Amino acid sequence: MDARVVIIGGGIMGCSTAYHLARNGWKDVVLLEQGRLSGGTTWHAAGLVGQLRSHQNLTRLIRYSTELYAGLEAETGLATGWKQCGSLSVARTPERMTLLRRSAAMANAQNVVCEELTPQQAGERYPLMRVDDLVGAVWLPGDGKANPADITQALAKGARNSGARIFEKTRVTAIDSQAGRVTGVQTTQGPIKVEVVVNCAGQWARQVGRMAGVTVPLYSCEHMYIVTEKIDGVPRDLPVLRDPDGYVYFKEEVGGLLMGGFEPKAKPWKDVIPDDFEFGMLPDDWDQFQVLMGNALTRVPALEKAGIKTFMNGPESFTPDLNYIVGEAPELRGFFVGAGFNSAGIASSGGVGMALAEWIVAGEPTLDLWPIDIRRFANFHGNDTWLRDRVTETLGLHYAIGWPQREAGSGRPLRRSPLYDRLAARGAWFGNRMGWERPNWFAGCGKKPDMRYGWDRGAWFDAVAAEHKATREAVTVADETSFGKFLVQGRNAEAALQRLCANDVGIPVGRTVYTGLLNERGTYESDLTIARLGTEKFLIITGSAQVTRDADWIGRHVPPHMHVTLTDVTGGWTVLSVMGPRSRTLLQAVSRGAFSNRAFPFAAIREIDVGYATLFAARRSYMGELGWELYVPAEFAVTVFEALHAAGAGFGLRDCGYYAIESLRLEKAYRAWGRELTPDDTPWQAGLGWAVKLDKPGGFIGRQALIEARNQPLARRLVSIVLEDGEPLLWGGETLLRDDKPVGDLTSAAYGHALGASVGLGYVRRDDGQIVDRAWLETGRFEVDLAGVRYRARATLQAPYDPTGARMKG
Ligand SMILES: Cc1cc2nc3c(=O)[nH]c(=O)nc-3n(C[C@H](O)[C@H](O)[C@H](O)COP(=O)(O)OP(=O)(O)OC[C@H]3O[C@@H](n4cnc5c(N)ncnc54)[C@H](O)[C@@H]3O)c2cc1C
Repeated sequence: MDARVVIIGGGIMGCSTAYHLARNGWKDVVLLEQGRLSGGTTWHAAGLVGQLRSHQNLTRLIRYSTELYAGLEAETGLATGWKQCGSLSVARTPERMTLLRRSAAMANAQNVVCEELTPQQAGERYPLMRVDDLVGAVWLPGDGKANPADITQALAKGARNSGARIFEKTRVTAIDSQAGRVTGVQTTQGPIKVEVVVNCAGQWARQVGRMAGVTVPLYSCEHMYIVTEKIDGVPRDLPVLRDPDGYVYFKEEVGGLLMGGFEPKAKPWKDVIPDDFEFGMLPDDWDQFQVLMGNALTRVPALEKAGIKTFMNGPESFTPDLNYIVGEAPELRGFFVGAGFNSAGIASSGGVGMALAEWIVAGEPTLDLWPIDIRRFANFHGNDTWLRDRVTETLGLHYAIGWPQREAGSGRPLRRSPLYDRLAARGAWFGNRMGWERPNWFAGCGKKPDMRYGWDRGAWFDAVAAEHKATREAVTVADETSFGKFLVQGRNAEAALQRLCANDVGIPVGRTVYTGLLNERGTYESDLTIARLGTEKFLIITGSAQVTRDADWIGRHVPPHMHVTLTDVTGGWTVLSVMGPRSRTLLQAVSRGAFSNRAFPFAAIREIDVGYATLFAARRSYMGELGWELYVPAEFAVTVFEALHAAGAGFGLRDCGYYAIESLRLEKAYRAWGRELTPDDTPWQAGLGWAVKLDKPGGFIGRQALIEARNQPLARRLVSIVLEDGEPLLWGGETLLRDDKPVGDLTSAAYGHALGASVGLGYVRRDDGQIVDRAWLETGRFEVDLAGVRYRARATLQAPYDPTGARMKG
């Protein structure tokens, strides 16, 4: 048999993908299920559908799910059990209430109705609930519940109606490929030749990925709930109730209650999921469930007397960061993944199936899906020991407070700079990105950092202020080893990069240039710095999280006839950023190199010596001060670090961590990939038109779209925001209002220690389609909604700090 696309897995995600591909007009859509439809994980889901996620596009996808589920019965004639019963989330502590208020502001800005309630008002909506220990609640009337197996059947029927073929009792046993492209699947019923394979195999997706050499980092944990006999006072339209401080949720089920939750320390299941685990359940585990039961009794005392009809213990897959895994695998063309739903697969699959189908049809995502993109991982994330340890933590994060500074505590340390022990001895408090341990702030030599999460200033605040001030007034050194680094080499290296980059990267040897990588829509796929080390040799410096993505994008867009290679050299080089007005004199003290403006102009890169070591220095800055990024062969890292510190005392040298880097870059309005620069944003909107060369010979990917976009008024634009009040802390995600109307939200924010107030970046939009210009910004009253309280702010197109860039070029 031949097919255009084979979808592996007949759970809700596979059926949704088949439904949307077939409705997109794709012929020869085949879905294979090793058992029976929904018999994997989907059949025993509790069926809660909550709309709100931390990322706008993910919320949008779930809202689409709710609309889809509401209309499926009329379309297919099959019931789905969809009921818009609304949901309540309650807070036991003021910190939780702050989180709920932040979510409410975010929800309302996205047109998801969300209302704050007093404990008494919450009690009126849920009379069985104890409320005397609550601080407050929020009410989302658009949330609902559904019957997961029924939705799956309805999606399957809808897919069949549009021409898809579905085969049960057909297991995929191998994936065929040739020259890096998928060509077919082997099944228990024989081989199938295909163009595209979609791995929607739920908790089996890691195993199916391995058949194709593709890393799908997910691991199963046990997830438990109970269902009671009927309870008086439980109407059929009882709202869903979440009590995250008690780790529990409740839903009406046949006149009784279904109660489950996400305990802080989860119970992982096993490395290899048996093929025949169909409609399977695991044994009851009351010891593991005890923490949920105790909290549930506190919230709904009526449970005490209710008989228990069912104890459900079903395994399901969790991922390292609690987000799904979606997209085309970087390891194999034509092999897509839609899995890793972390207990949100019922709510999410309608929308994610639609987005994945669009991605398959278009060949690239049609909106920013970076938080769930498979390319945020690398192959080392597939390590079973690491995954098992990490998911033990991630399940519980569902209901943990999403502190803005929260770092994963498990599976660490994973990747370490050669300076790790030295940084630790200087009191570093480490964060984690792409597996790298990165210093966020320093308590000082020999001191233990006192890091407590909160919405307000902690001990970190003064330490970061000192690092920030030292960078602005003296000099600091920051270990930025986690930057991704690639060597691009070959006869056609320049031509290949010119086609990929929006800026002119045909620079002389010894220069660096900042550029975006754009897609055909003219929106960002990445942003990075390129240094020319030789006629046929370029070094790319990119963000820590972008390494897999950039390698995939570049590999995919360099024509095969070109003579060019891409080598990931991330681990071979340490990066030390030496920044601040005294950076020049400090470097002069440790090096025989020349660092004057004439000898070493801005954007130049030179080989220099520091002590006994030889390395590259690039004159650039992400912090807005005079400074050099040192690219140091890993074996010289300690030598260079020690030389800098030995000479540094006389210059006021301090260590600088990522919190200070963040506040420094925001004062300068420097954009960050994934936040200000995403596949939803053009360089025009992002204010980076200066890094686009429309007229360079040969053009570049995205040029045509940019030319067309240039003729439209910029009704959406990135602006800097500074609060008028110096007290409140902004974290990012807050809603921006102009004359009381939401116009956008903050993509990033931090405290600007040189400005004396919180500073951020965010896109604002004009409803009337006119240009967002200085006049519009100056004539409106801008405010930021911070957990329900509004603060006046100034919105500008220019950087709030040193807008001309004079300091950096001084
Ligand atoms: C106790 C519990 C409660 C939950 N409650 C909720 C909730 O309230 N709300 C919510 O949104 N989510 C909830 N979930 C999560 C939800 O159930 C899952 O996220 C969702 O079902 C995942 O769907 P899926 O299609 O990705 O996976 P699955 O349903 O597991 O489907 C994958 C399918 O792939 C098939 N397969 C695997 N390997 C092969 C192969 N080699 N060849 C052919 N077929 C193969 C399997 O047999 C399986 O049927 C809950 C989960 C549990 C366990």
